Amino acid sequence: MRKLILSFCLFVFSATTVTAQQYDLVLEGGRVMDPETGLDAVRNVGIRDGKIARISSEALSGRRVISARGLVVAPGFIDLHQHGQELESQRVKALDGATTALELEIGVPDVGRFLKEKEGHSLIHYGTSASHVAARALVFGTPLPAGPSKNQPGIPEILPKSGPATDQPATLEQIEVIREQLRAELDAGALAIGMGIQYTPGATRLEVIDMFRLAAERKVPVYTHMRSSGRIEPGSAIESVSEVIGAAAVTGASLHIVHINSTCASDGLECLSLVEGARARGLDVTTEAYPYIAGMTSINSALFNPGWQKKFGISYGELVLPETGEHLTKERFDELHNSSATHSVLVFSNTQEMVDKVITHPLVMIASDGAEGHPRNAGTYSRVLAQYVREKGALTLMDAIRKMTLMPAQMLERSTPAGRQKGRLQEGADADIVVFDAATISDRSTFQKPMEPSVGVHYLVVGGTVLVDEGKIVPEVFPGRALVGPGKR
Ligand SMILES: [Zn+2]
Repeated sequence: MRKLILSFCLFVFSATTVTAQQYDLVLEGGRVMDPETGLDAVRNVGIRDGKIARISSEALSGRRVISARGLVVAPGFIDLHQHGQELESQRVKALDGATTALELEIGVPDVGRFLKEKEGHSLIHYGTSASHVAARALVFGTPLPAGPSKNQPGIPEILPKSGPATDQPATLEQIEVIREQLRAELDAGALAIGMGIQYTPGATRLEVIDMFRLAAERKVPVYTHMRSSGRIEPGSAIESVSEVIGAAAVTGASLHIVHINSTCASDGLECLSLVEGARARGLDVTTEAYPYIAGMTSINSALFNPGWQKKFGISYGELVLPETGEHLTKERFDELHNSSATHSVLVFSNTQEMVDKVITHPLVMIASDGAEGHPRNAGTYSRVLAQYVREKGALTLMDAIRKMTLMPAQMLERSTPAGRQKGRLQEGADADIVVFDAATISDRSTFQKPMEPSVGVHYLVVGGTVLVDEGKIVPEVFPGRALVGPGKR
């Protein structure tokens, strides 16, 4: 009898425990902000099985309750343009508020291998495009390395050295082989076709259109680094925008123009007016920017083919090595450009005034173009919140959050229905959430110290798992999951 009573008591006890711990995690009393519904109010957020199960002004109970009082609770930031996919970059991205960081500009040479290597080893959500640059290099017999290099994680290993594979036009047969290769990468799970046309200047207008045709056929967008910069015709930034908008118009493919800040530089507003005009005429064209006056790329790439100084309106002194801060001279440039060893270089080609106008433009979403060596890797999102929302008052907090969450999520929906569950702080959405202090959030990365993590992100929840806890990365948890395109399903 005593035994029976004991079991009954145990049953009652465990039943009450279950009701008392209704949610896996509760974020209590934060300022909950959702750019899609406009919700901006103090609420409690209940998370269960990786999803946002409840948003309520009533008290919620959970196995763990985190007080978010005085903090903003927003959808985790979605970076559509992140080259550095290794853990060091993911750590600084997480501390900058990103729960998803995708390599969509250039893509990776082997999508299947990329997805396999990251499975179970990723802090935040990941995904990639099929790389036109890599497929072209393969067809010309100079394949890019399939894996990232330890010394230069991020940009140089996905960009070919300038040479025949980048500068020669492809034959019609070669174009068909490139398309075949891209079809295989899309079948392996690529989210889009990534094109770095400036890195493959030999690609004819027809080759570009043929890649857009493939994207339209497979119902995925094209993400592109455009053909050229500057004002000299032919080959101006305006011509480059016209080329890709034209390709989108004649094929029906969705188009995302990457880093319009750096490609268009002083013509940023004119380029944006072209995007605006295309959209007004029903074309699906979107764009992004990062909040820095310098870019970064590979010094032996085709971007620095002869004539770059005149084209970009800069000279050797505006090129800076990230590790040492060395400003280049002609001799040093020639040595590095002609070397087969890859090397990142910072390119100071924009003004703060123009960056400010582009970042605050309503059509522009925020994306970092991040990789080790440039402060944008670690600081992009906090910098926008610190400088444009808090210091300059040039963006409302809700507008800044929209540019970092809802807008990229809607872009992602062109590639996968999973995009609909992201970028929203709503019941039923994925529990990818950033909890930050709007009064203190700041970037700390600089051109001298590019990997200094941001401050002000108190908590980061990735698919329901706490990855940043009281401002620190939780060791040995890898909640990042793959986002894959329609070919894989
Ligand atoms: Zn680029």
